[in-house]
Amino acid sequence: MAAVLVNAWVFYSYLNALLDAGNAVRAVQHTERRIGVFLETLLNAETGQRGYVLTADGQYLRPYLRAVGLVDEQLDQLGEDFADDPIQLARVETLAPLVRRKLDEMAESIAIRLRDGPEAARAFVAGNAGVADMDEIRAVLQSMAGDKTRRLAALEASYNRTREITMLSLGVFVATSIALVAALLAMIRRAERQRIQAAADHARYIEEITRTVTQIEHERNEVADVNEMASFLQSCHSAAELGKTVGAFLERSFPSLAGGLYIFAPSRNDLQLAAAFGGGSLLPRLTPEQCWGLRRGGPHAHRVAAGVPQCAHHAGSGERAALCLPLIAHGETIGLLTLTGTAAADVGVRRVADGAARHLALAIANLQLRDTLKEQSIRDPLTGTFNRRHFDIVGRKELAQCHRLGRDFALVMIDVDHFKRYNDMHGHAAGDLALVAICDHVHGAIRESDWLFRLGGEEFVLLLRETEPDDAARRCEDLRKGIARLKITGNGAALPSVTVSMGLATRQAASDTLDDILARADEALYQSKDAGRNRLTIAP
Ligand code: GH3
Ligand code: MG
Ligand code: MG
Repeated sequence: MAAVLVNAWVFYSYLNALLDAGNAVRAVQHTERRIGVFLETLLNAETGQRGYVLTADGQYLRPYLRAVGLVDEQLDQLGEDFADDPIQLARVETLAPLVRRKLDEMAESIAIRLRDGPEAARAFVAGNAGVADMDEIRAVLQSMAGDKTRRLAALEASYNRTREITMLSLGVFVATSIALVAALLAMIRRAERQRIQAAADHARYIEEITRTVTQIEHERNEVADVNEMASFLQSCHSAAELGKTVGAFLERSFPSLAGGLYIFAPSRNDLQLAAAFGGGSLLPRLTPEQCWGLRRGGPHAHRVAAGVPQCAHHAGSGERAALCLPLIAHGETIGLLTLTGTAAADVGVRRVADGAARHLALAIANLQLRDTLKEQSIRDPLTGTFNRRHFDIVGRKELAQCHRLGRDFALVMIDVDHFKRYNDMHGHAAGDLALVAICDHVHGAIRESDWLFRLGGEEFVLLLRETEPDDAARRCEDLRKGIARLKITGNGAALPSVTVSMGLATRQAASDTLDDILARADEALYQSKDAGRNRLTIAP
């Protein structure tokens, strides 16, 4: 920028110098012309004078007089032109008397022609110094013109030099200006590129932020869904209820997928389908061997494209991707969450599935633990029959219902005969085996609506619902005979069979309590014992 300004100033200066030089040249040319014009004026005057002297024709006086009238003025102009040149000014001053004398001579010759005739005038002209004066004047004017010509040549040379330098500085100025304009254009273009780049960066940034916000929103919804499912799972009372509840939640969490929830059977030999969603084709049962996830104890993501093997339980499903997540709680594998569909092995699905599997595992483990504790609290561990506490609860409920509906209700007290002796003779372990064998037999013989309780030691009570007294008696007899025929084995050796005594009592009146009926059954049992054992007594 500074270079351009300097060059502009230099160019301006040279341009001024060039104009000055041009003016000077023009002034010199003008003066040169004036010298020529002055000589021409004198020559015109002389021509007019000679014409008149020779012819006495008044026409010749006209140019003479016009020229004489101009001489003084032109001489003054030459003086003004040379005001700043002393040498030329001196020449003008030399010229003035010569010119004056020449003019006087011409005037005199014209007067003699007019007065004395042509001969006298011709003699005057021939006899005076007019010609010599004219030569001298011409010489002075020539030297003046010569000076002017030299000066003009010098000025023209200077003018040409100045013009070259001016053109050069103009070229430099134009070149630097073009360079400046090019640099400015480049800067503008770079600034524009930067602006476009910044706008693109900004747009990308906004897009990134939007994507992140959407992702966060999405993940928050996923977490909310899983948390809601977890809340419901915690409130389930049984695995069956959990199975019914969880399908809808899983469907919502994995809308584009199908899948199912498997839970290990109590035997732990296989897993049963507890919930399914998305309409996939799932096996109702599968063994741990059929699933890579269960076999390896961790998540298994199958993708046809990735070359990861497919689980056998998905074989033939035609799915290109699947995810199997073993449900692990307290270090134990309790089930399997399996998903199928194109997106099954995606990162987002995996994230939600991990959360869902964690909650499912805990919920199922809690349910199973609850079931176990409940079972333990109501069952006798040796025989698997319900215990006395459960009898008090169930017995009262069942009786109340039968009272309300007017249905039959019977209690059968069962006591093993001479069981102390059996223990004494064959050992306590053998006695245990006998108790287990009796209970297994009874469980196998009674209906699903009947209950067997162990009241303590070798005493049991059987609760028969909606059974007529005769039918109850018949079934008791069958049981008694069946028990007496039981083959009991211990350590591969056969043990002696046992017999039981029974006392049957039925609901008689709406006011009967459980204890009333139980007391009557106990009384009947006592009578059976009294009557020799291995028999049934029906309470009146
Ligand atoms: P009765 O025919 O009059 O009923 O004679 P009993 O010997 O069966 O009756 P008693 O009440 O005298 O003896 C009951 C025995 O049952 C005493 C006890 O050792 C035995 N017993 C109670 N609970 C168990 C048990 O869980 N396992 C075994 N092996 N024996 C038990
Ligand atoms: Mg007893
Ligand atoms: Mg007994």
